[in-house]
Amino acid sequence: MNAEIISVGTEIVLGSTLNTNTYYLSKRLWEIGINVLYHTTVGDNPKLLEDVVNIGLERSDLLIFTGGLGPTADDMTKEVISKALGLKLELNKNMEDSLKDYFNQTNRLMSSNNIKQAYLPEGAKILTNEIGTAPGIYIEWKEKKLILLPGPPKEMELMFNKYVIPMIQQDYTIKIKTINTIGIGESTLETLLMDIIKDQDNPSLATYAKEGQVDIKIIAKGYEEEKVNILLEDIVKKVENRISKYIYSCDDETIEEIVFNKLKNKNMKIAFCESCTGGLVSSKFTQIPGASEVFERGIITYSNKAKIEEVGVSKKTLERYGAVSEQVAIEMARGLLNKTGVDITLSTTGIAGPSGGSSSKPVGLVFIGIATKEDSYAIKSIFAGDRKSIQNRAALKAFDELRKIL
Ligand code: AMP
Ligand code: MG
Repeated sequence: MNAEIISVGTEIVLGSTLNTNTYYLSKRLWEIGINVLYHTTVGDNPKLLEDVVNIGLERSDLLIFTGGLGPTADDMTKEVISKALGLKLELNKNMEDSLKDYFNQTNRLMSSNNIKQAYLPEGAKILTNEIGTAPGIYIEWKEKKLILLPGPPKEMELMFNKYVIPMIQQDYTIKIKTINTIGIGESTLETLLMDIIKDQDNPSLATYAKEGQVDIKIIAKGYEEEKVNILLEDIVKKVENRISKYIYSCDDETIEEIVFNKLKNKNMKIAFCESCTGGLVSSKFTQIPGASEVFERGIITYSNKAKIEEVGVSKKTLERYGAVSEQVAIEMARGLLNKTGVDITLSTTGIAGPSGGSSSKPVGLVFIGIATKEDSYAIKSIFAGDRKSIQNRAALKAFDELRKIL
């Protein structure tokens, strides 16, 4: 079933109210296996709204409206839809009584325009509003379903969950798998997977770029859970075979968590010595609950003096190669390993910008040093972006290198 969400309200088109209803409904509809194909927003204008209704009826099976059900003159969703469908509005006696009750109970005076809310398109069903006055409305019309919900998010959500979901739910299973990749750009990844992306409707596969990483989301659906699982597993295997070296998780874990788990399984301790990332690597790592099981220390050696005093980088190396160099990155990592006695250390040194770059050492140049008892080496990268992105990408790259060696 293909759905369209139609938000009605001038305040939304003007940008004075954030359209949270569409966001909420999209997520919920997806979860129950209904494809949302369109989001439409229109102001409180009967002519424009009528056009939107007609367009929606042409292209969607399920139309969910929010807003414009209130008692005032600018609320006209019900009236416009009734006109577009050729349905008469009839006074609903029960509605009228319950409105009167509502006003009595809440000790408020019912104004004459409130009675407008007791009118329903012929053949429509009422969706009770337990926390407001505007009832929702359910209309079936020529194989189409139209659902009218109030604008206030709390009223809309309660009504949707309690009354609408049971009416539209399908015995449908949806499974979503996220494959996390690093070290490959979105367009290259898409090219590598193009035939799979193009051929597939179910499961569907799409790539989502985040900073320095790309996620692949695979969505499989069907009426039998077993079959859905097989569909999903088949395509996950296909993707894994194709791009295995870029995949760090098939369970939506962070790359820090992967590194943490590997260290924990191997019973290893780690320490970081950071320059250009200024503690970001340690900060990301210590967000993992239980990090202390593997994390020994993190130090920030920003100045040359600190590099010499804290981890014993030699003055000569600094003078000869500069602070941002492969040699210094290695000496930082090795020095920290000697000092702490942990199993593995990682260092960062680079130029985060925006100033301080030169033609031989441009902004974005970062060396990541790694030392273990057996070996020490550095990896050179050049990252694009502003200061924050460069630092972030360097930290991600640091974890990716750890993942590879572990
Ligand atoms: P209405 O039913 O059109 O009178 O809307 C009542 C109130 O609900 C508006 O003033 C907004 O504050 C809120 N509202 C309406 N539509 C939305 C929406 N799409 N997202 C978030 N809030 C909304
Ligand atoms: Mg409104």
